[in-house]
Amino acid sequence: RTVNILGFPFINGTREGFVQHELKPKIMKQEKAFIVTANPEIVELAIGNEEYRKTVESADYIVPDGIGIIVASKMQKTPLAERITGFEVMQDLMTLADKQGLNVYMLGAQEHVVARAANQVKEQYPNLNLVGYHHGFFDINDQAFAESVAKLQPDLIFVATGAPRQEKWISLHADTFDKGIFMGVGGCFDVLAG
Ligand code: UDP
Repeated sequence: RTVNILGFPFINGTREGFVQHELKPKIMKQEKAFIVTANPEIVELAIGNEEYRKTVESADYIVPDGIGIIVASKMQKTPLAERITGFEVMQDLMTLADKQGLNVYMLGAQEHVVARAANQVKEQYPNLNLVGYHHGFFDINDQAFAESVAKLQPDLIFVATGAPRQEKWISLHADTFDKGIFMGVGGCFDVLAG
């Protein structure tokens, strides 16, 4: 089910299978999951930094986001089924949230960017319950802030503060939450904001 590339176990399968058969059951059972959408930049960061490497290794799913990862898998003759981008997984999860009325929290990017992205999400997914959003320029060690987010009981927590900040925040604070799918989404809010 995984392919090892440069020491990291990447999930091997289709995006649809990943969302429907791995993530959806976890969401329905209110189990937690930490997803790292690893592009070559993240892999490089993790190789060069022991602490970040441990953070990435602590994820439940390492997703091959980036054609470089797919090329590497082919070169070592263990080809991955497909590239799975963080943006598309986020969209799939928002669609699921819309169908099921799930609670969503958006954390990251500049204030006006996340506000715009949040508006887009509300428009595109009217049945999804956006419980809150916050810009990404805060102290990642702020426990009180994490607790204030956890109180909102989000099912999905998208963290768009760039690597390694987003994964660090997730690994520092996921314990504070009762449930939730946590995913670092890099520049995705900027894309959503347009
Ligand atoms: N960002 C943030 N807090 C920070 C640094 C960056 O919220 O302390 C945001 C930034 O505004 C942008 C997002 O992180 O919206 C993604 O940045 P970048 O494109 O560098 O991330 P990547 O997609 O390369 O991981």
